[in-house]
Amino acid sequence: MAKYVFVTGGVTSSLGKGIIAASLAKLLQGRGLKVTIQKFDPYINIDPGTMNPYEHGECYVTDDGAETDLDLGHYERFLNIPTSQANNVTTGRIYQTVINKEREGEYLGKTVQVVPHITDEIKRRMLLLGQTGNYDIVITELGGTVGDIESLPFIEAVRQIQWELPEEDCIIVHLTLIPYLNAAKELKTKPTQHSVRMLSQEGVHPNIIVCRTEHPINEDIRKKIALFCNVKPEAVIEAMDASTIYEVPIKMLEEKLDLIVLKKLHISNYAELSLSKWNDFLDKLKHPKQTVNIGLIGKYVELQDAYKSILEAFIHAGAMNQCKVNIVNVHSEFIDAENVKEKLSGLDGLLVAPGFGSRGVEGKIESVKYARENKLPFFGICLGMQMAVIEFARNVLGWEDAHSTEMNENTTHPVIALMHEQKEISNKGGTMRLGAYDCEIESNSLAHQIYESKNISERHRHRWEFNNDFLTDFLNAGLIASGKNIEKDLVEIIELSDHPFFIGVQYHPELKSTVENPHPIFVKFVSAAKQYSVSYSNEVSATN
Ligand code: GLN
Repeated sequence: MAKYVFVTGGVTSSLGKGIIAASLAKLLQGRGLKVTIQKFDPYINIDPGTMNPYEHGECYVTDDGAETDLDLGHYERFLNIPTSQANNVTTGRIYQTVINKEREGEYLGKTVQVVPHITDEIKRRMLLLGQTGNYDIVITELGGTVGDIESLPFIEAVRQIQWELPEEDCIIVHLTLIPYLNAAKELKTKPTQHSVRMLSQEGVHPNIIVCRTEHPINEDIRKKIALFCNVKPEAVIEAMDASTIYEVPIKMLEEKLDLIVLKKLHISNYAELSLSKWNDFLDKLKHPKQTVNIGLIGKYVELQDAYKSILEAFIHAGAMNQCKVNIVNVHSEFIDAENVKEKLSGLDGLLVAPGFGSRGVEGKIESVKYARENKLPFFGICLGMQMAVIEFARNVLGWEDAHSTEMNENTTHPVIALMHEQKEISNKGGTMRLGAYDCEIESNSLAHQIYESKNISERHRHRWEFNNDFLTDFLNAGLIASGKNIEKDLVEIIELSDHPFFIGVQYHPELKSTVENPHPIFVKFVSAAKQYSVSYSNEVSATN
């Protein structure tokens, strides 16, 4: 049976519970233990799939097609193992299960209540992954902040689990903020004392306090927190701001967070820490030999969380290339035929981002045209690939009004269209083409050079598809359909023959990039951008 670690947050949101949970998991994994992480979110949406990126950042998709919180992306990037629907549960999903059971008459005439029915369902799901026999430790991150009304049933479920399990099988790590008052030149522990007290009032007592702080916490502060929060001083962990999230495991190692957790869980059978791949990565990340500028063309660029996995995939690919990837955010809404050259000048590569709806699509199409004509390395993801198809249809095939029916239902050339099975669907939640699908790759293609494999599997999240009615025209004009899903006869990858690096993919490769397995398209794209940057600077110096 697995042991359980719950991670709660106090004082404020955005303290980085996900990164702390992932860092702890990484250290435990590095000691040979089998670890997974799950997140329980207190909002009422069934999943974040229906939420706008401005509300919730990126929606992360798992192999089994679950639309989940972006923290699951961190879990996968850190641990290098896939997550699934079971790793992300929301209040909405809990209530949906309980209400469905009630309708089926499963409660046998009882009044259905938050305690015990909702809390029982939360507990059942919290313990589920631990019962598979696949893990030694299950870390559960509780979304929200202690004291929120909607977190109460989750905290109560944790209290009951802690009471039911042997003491050494369940511990609570509480992440809190130690603010620094500049005027007083002092770190303040009071908010932490209050948040721990609030947790205690709900019957949950933290075993370890992790303190987010901008300044080091000295021994006095550590002792004060320990005394008032009723933990031993060594269980007060300093979590200083790090230059990259990938350094947090190392910081937690210095604070011995892993050893304290292992001691409290009475686990003595662990290996010597091995983090060599992680450390190699960090070393490369910190010592880049050159910089490339990649334009990220999107409509949510002011909100970095909307493109979280893409940005992280570039960090992985940059380290692999010993190259700093400088992301230049370009708002697609403000790009037009007149200013495209000026907006995209100085870039060594162009990534056209995923997205939904018509805002900003003309700017994306202009950017693709610029990349195609100027032989600038191009990478289109999902909507980005669809925009590349539309650009080719309009400017190479000469079909002026070519479009996706998502943006223009009346176009005479619907080169991107809905699959028949999508036309019948009216519900918005969980109804896209979601999760892992196989893709077969053409030999002698850029995609084949990149993947070095004929059969791949990648994750999807979209409704619209390349319209095969026009495929022959595209192929005759020089577009290459280098990846296909055979079962559904769908084009998944497009490229251009007369271009050094031009690739559009209908799926989301960024979701599978991890520290230990950077995604090959990102790696090769950054390498193409490096080459472009060198040949461009040679050209400039030759003309001077
Ligand atoms: N809006 C497009 C579709 O649904 C693309 C989606 C995406 O980029 N994830 O097909």
